[in-house]
Amino acid sequence: MFKEGMTLDEILKIEIPEDRVDRLKELVSFDIPDLSDEVARFLLKQQIQVVNIQYARFLAGVKFTEADVDNLMKGAIDIHAHGGSDPFDRLLLEDEIAMDYSRAGMRAVVFKTWFTPSASRNQLVQKYLDIWAQGNEVEPVKIFGGITLNKPVGGINPDAVKRCLGFPGSKYVWMPMVDSYHHRRIVYDDWSGEGLRIVDDKGRCLPEMSEVLRIAADNDLIVASGHFPYVEHKAVFEEAIRLGVKRMEIIHPAHIHCKTSIEQMKEAASEGIKLMLSGLGTTTFPQHETGPVYAVKMIKEVGARHFVYGSDYGQIHNPSHVVGTRWLIKLLLAYGATTEEVQQIFQISPAEHLGLERG
Ligand SMILES: [Zn+2]
Repeated sequence: MFKEGMTLDEILKIEIPEDRVDRLKELVSFDIPDLSDEVARFLLKQQIQVVNIQYARFLAGVKFTEADVDNLMKGAIDIHAHGGSDPFDRLLLEDEIAMDYSRAGMRAVVFKTWFTPSASRNQLVQKYLDIWAQGNEVEPVKIFGGITLNKPVGGINPDAVKRCLGFPGSKYVWMPMVDSYHHRRIVYDDWSGEGLRIVDDKGRCLPEMSEVLRIAADNDLIVASGHFPYVEHKAVFEEAIRLGVKRMEIIHPAHIHCKTSIEQMKEAASEGIKLMLSGLGTTTFPQHETGPVYAVKMIKEVGARHFVYGSDYGQIHNPSHVVGTRWLIKLLLAYGATTEEVQQIFQISPAEHLGLERG
């Protein structure tokens, strides 16, 4: 049973006995029609676990200060931020995000766009950021980008990847996301088969995908996953390793579009594939296996050195990148991550991933 002064690990191991669930059922009702007894019991157990964690943290007192969070923000890197250069509403433009991050003392940011190569804007944003930073006596963040292989760039199009190599700070090739057939199944329940693929009917990496991987290997690009099932990403990453790609990443592994179990995360990590810890998922989708409890579980079970921080913020209804990043750091600390683990995920691993010198 829950007691004051327990560690997070002990709290998470607390079994909620069935007779306790019976008593809770008397006290708590759900606004979900036709809720089965089994699901109601599952929800009650989950919610009591979160209550235990929350109260344990309150009773233990806040173990960090705003100044601690300030320090952790210094030198941090966001490897997955969405700015204004998408053809729909975004919260902030790329320069505004970069100014916020520079003020916070962060080191670098990677912009990701859905439909056109974000790398094409790096030079322009960096130029005006640097001028602004000089006038404001702050160190500007380094700006990076890449290309997402959605339909507007021709899908899995090696020529588009090749053309992006000329842009300064072009570091990433992301596999298709919103234009993937799997994304269409998950989000739109569209089973027509419409949408981009990365493997053939037998589950083998498609030739054009291999061509992209070859370009990535020759130019030391980061190859990042998209919205596909884990087994398909795995087939592509196996081919990437065979072709000599050194930098690989699974984006938001806990999200439903590409749900990767902790066992699969461990398997990927053992192959040298980095896992993106999603700010968006952890802070704004807590009901999925993406919330802070699950995030800390992932970190503890897989190991902090395998994770790189990507905010994934930019949606108009969510917190700004800098606010969300601070919030995530606080949640991780409150839910049991150590300062060293946060430094690893926000500073050390992403710097290595991007090939930056030790900060
Ligand atoms: Zn994203």
